[in-house]
Amino acid sequence: MKTVGLIGGMSWESTATYYRLINQGIRNRCGGLHSAKMLLYSVDFAEIEALQSSGRWHEAGQLLAEAAVRLEKGGADLLLICTNTMHKVAAQVVAAVTLPLIHIAEATGAKIVQDGIEAVGLLGTRFTMEEQFYRSVLEDTFGLRVVVPTADDRRLVDKVIFNELCRGVIADNSRQEYLRIVDSLAAQGCGAIILGCTEIALLIGSGDTDLKLYDTTEIHAQQAVAMMLDQ
Ligand code: GLU
Repeated sequence: MKTVGLIGGMSWESTATYYRLINQGIRNRCGGLHSAKMLLYSVDFAEIEALQSSGRWHEAGQLLAEAAVRLEKGGADLLLICTNTMHKVAAQVVAAVTLPLIHIAEATGAKIVQDGIEAVGLLGTRFTMEEQFYRSVLEDTFGLRVVVPTADDRRLVDKVIFNELCRGVIADNSRQEYLRIVDSLAAQGCGAIILGCTEIALLIGSGDTDLKLYDTTEIHAQQAVAMMLDQ
């Protein structure tokens, strides 16, 4: 088994999910007492968020690149950045190490195309929904039509992520708002919704809607397990 290196803490609420899902994946495939060989470098998310909101992405990328170097030195064989948003600096992280990175949008896009879906709704932070770094992978590499919520709804989705989900707050009224937004994306022809933020599955899941949901945390973790076992 290969050792996976996680750059986590963005937020730790979802990194805890990664830890569980990767261990469950290894146990399901290997059985018995098998568990995942894993290294975690967990950042202080307040520092990262301050850099994001002031547009200092290069500095944020530098912090993650340093984390990746430490993971490589510690013996990791492959790397995950445990947030969709910070894939904005994925190239900077990759350039700092020789480890392969599993790109969260590539893993997700591949799965959606496999399932024959052509149009998807995208929920995530304002950066993920509004900028090109994430959407372009889905649109240009996988040929998907990507639909995002209205400007007001994007603000709401983003605010719930930073003010609630990343702080461990799961609120029923926010769940209802998210489900309303999911319905509005379905009404625009989306055959599925990407939960393009690693905390969203803490709020909504397949039991809440008939529409197919692609949970990026789960897809990313499954892909890591496959690569750890060379499958
Ligand atoms: N975990 C979130 C994501 O997947 C948001 C936190 C962040 O801004 O990195 O995008």
